[in-house]
Parts: sequence; C-alpha cells; structure tokens
Amino acid sequence: MKLRFVDLQAQQARLATDLRRRVDAVLAQCQFVLGPEVVELETALASFCGAKHCVTVSSGTDALQIALMAEEIGPGDAIFLPAFTYTATAEVPLILGATPVFVDVDAHTYQIDPAHLRQRIAEIRAAGRLRPRAVVGVDLFGQPADWPVLRQIAQSEGLFTLDDCAQAYGATLGGRPLGTMADATATSFYPSKPLGAYGDGGALFTESDNRAALYRSLRTHGEGAARYEVLRTGMNGRLDTLQAAVLLAKLSIFTDELAAREKVARSYDQRLGDIVGIPARVPGSTSSWAIYTITLPDAAARDALQGSLRQAGIPTAIYYPRPLHLQPAYRAHHDGVPLPVSEALSERVLALPIHAYMTESDVALVCEAIGA
Ligand SMILES: *Cc1c(COP(=O)(O)O)cnc(C)c1O
Repeated sequence: MKLRFVDLQAQQARLATDLRRRVDAVLAQCQFVLGPEVVELETALASFCGAKHCVTVSSGTDALQIALMAEEIGPGDAIFLPAFTYTATAEVPLILGATPVFVDVDAHTYQIDPAHLRQRIAEIRAAGRLRPRAVVGVDLFGQPADWPVLRQIAQSEGLFTLDDCAQAYGATLGGRPLGTMADATATSFYPSKPLGAYGDGGALFTESDNRAALYRSLRTHGEGAARYEVLRTGMNGRLDTLQAAVLLAKLSIFTDELAAREKVARSYDQRLGDIVGIPARVPGSTSSWAIYTITLPDAAARDALQGSLRQAGIPTAIYYPRPLHLQPAYRAHHDGVPLPVSEALSERVLALPIHAYMTESDVALVCEAIGA
C-alpha cells in the first residue's frame, strides 16, 4: 500500500457511516450556513478545550483576521510574530494596514523565542514609529509555544495576545488544552490539519464575553442584534453547516487519533534520534503532531535526503523553505534585522509523513530509508 503524507482516505473509511448520516441530515434540513450542526460543534469544541466561548468561522486565516479586527488593529500598529511560520500569520496584520514585526524562533523547539520577542518590542519602542499592540504566538507543527512567558511579556507591555493554534488544536501545555492560553485562540480546520474539515473552516476561542460577541458580529458583516443592522465593518466569515457536520464526526475519534499520532512521533524519536535532529519537546506539553520535522546538517544534506526518499516512494515536505521576512511580499515590511535561526532552519528542515493510520511497519520503512 502507498505511504501517504497525511491519510485522509483511511480516516474516511473508518468514519464512512457516521459521515453519511450527518451529511444526509444537513441535506434534509437545508440550513447550509450557521445551521444547528454549527451550534452543536461550537459547544463541543469549547468543551473539548475548556474554553468559555467558541465562535466558528470560515478559515484559520479569517479567525486570525477577525481576532485582530475586534481589537481595532490597523495602521501604525506593530504586531509581533515569528518569522518561521505559515504566511497567513503575517498576511493578516498587513491586510488590516498594521505592520508585522518578525521575531526569531528557538533552534530546537522551532517556537517563537521569548528573549528575542522582548528585544524586538524594545527596538520598536525605541524607534518610535510604530505602536506595539499584539503578540501572535504560533504553536508551530502542533507543539505549544511558551505561553506562560509570552503572556507575562505581553502583560508587562500591555499587548493583546493571540494564539495562532492552526496546527495545534488538541495539544496541551501544563496539563491544559490549548484554547485558553492567550486572550484569543484561532484554529484552522483546513483538511490536512489534525482536526480537518472537507473544505475550509476555522474557530476562535476566548474567555471574554465581549470578544465572543464581537467575533459573532464580525463574521456576519458586523451585524447587530437585529438582522440588517450594521454596527461595524465586518466580513463574510461564517462556517458552512456541512463542514460542521464533518467536523462533528471527526471530533468523535479525535482523542484516539491524537494518541495514535503521539505513538508515531515516539517511534520516530526512538528510531531517528541518533542519526538526524529530532524535534525537541516543549517542557510540560503534548503535541497534536500536525507535522513531524527533522533537521539535517545543511541544505545539501536535506535536499539529498528528500531526493532519495522520493525515489523510495516516501513523501516528505519542507515547512518552510523561506522564513517570512525574506519573502518577496513581506521583505519591504521588515526592518532588516537578521533572524539567523529562522534562516538556518528553512534550509535544514524536512517533514516526514505522520498521521493516525501509520503502522509501526510504515514508520520502520521511513526510518530505514533515512538510515540508508
Ligand atoms: C494553516 C495555517 C493557518 C491558516 O489556516 P487556513 O484555515 O488555511 O486559513 C494560519 N496559521 C498557521 C500557522 C497555519 O498552519
């Protein structure tokens, strides 16, 4: 059987009956936007991560955007975020006219470096052109960022905290699920994420009644309590009912899938720890293992390994081949500060297949090919 990078087919086979039943129920009802399944899903997701409010939205990117819109972030505002992340994290502040300020990451956990964050905030304050407003911490590859320290820094600087948890819903830190670590948490249900829909989707979590109400308004064109009353500029950012139905089916096996992913990650650790760099664990955390990333000594070694694995029929991916501050679209918004860890990682990282349906012999196959 073909080894897949992410195996949505195996998951679908397991859930086929439940998926059909739930999708049929939506088709029978014909409430395709914000139907009853959306409400049911919001309750289930909030309860799963222990958050007071869950507001589902149309994508992870829209979740980030709605969270920043609710804080009225715009021109002149500095938003601190890691340079080593997916493009959406930096795109959203720019869409709102704000400026992303790129922060370097830790070489071993790949997460935003709190010491460098402090330094970047001081630099921006000293330069005096931008107003520090928010920290967007990313739980990269499924592992939590250092939220206790990030929160402390944000508190002392008076900054809003947003957890870009697009890759890490289901992960925990200090025994608590992600979803309540920051002022707001945004996640994504893009199909290949640990909890994925059959199309785009996302959600916001918050403990604040006020923020939750704003998110609900902003996802429906800024509407007020009465329909067609427009209180603020919003967007079309709602989740489809069909996606909610799919997610409810998938949520029923999510805990089990997280455990299966953890087993694969541990097996990779054991088999690969002596021959390549394996991801360091964030202390006191569990990962959702959206991505399992190894590091090689340099770009040549990484590219050679990726080539030979491809020949052996083993799919791999590079997250991310270029840090955001060096992207053509973002370079002009960067103040030129070198971010050496992000730059080095982009040349050395390689992501291996990981999903809940990988067998021990699949893992062995990948590791033997890497060893060879
Ligand atoms: C996937 C992802 C997003 C965007 O989510 P979409 O649902 O694809 O819009 C944002 N941030 C990170 C870190 C992601 O991995």
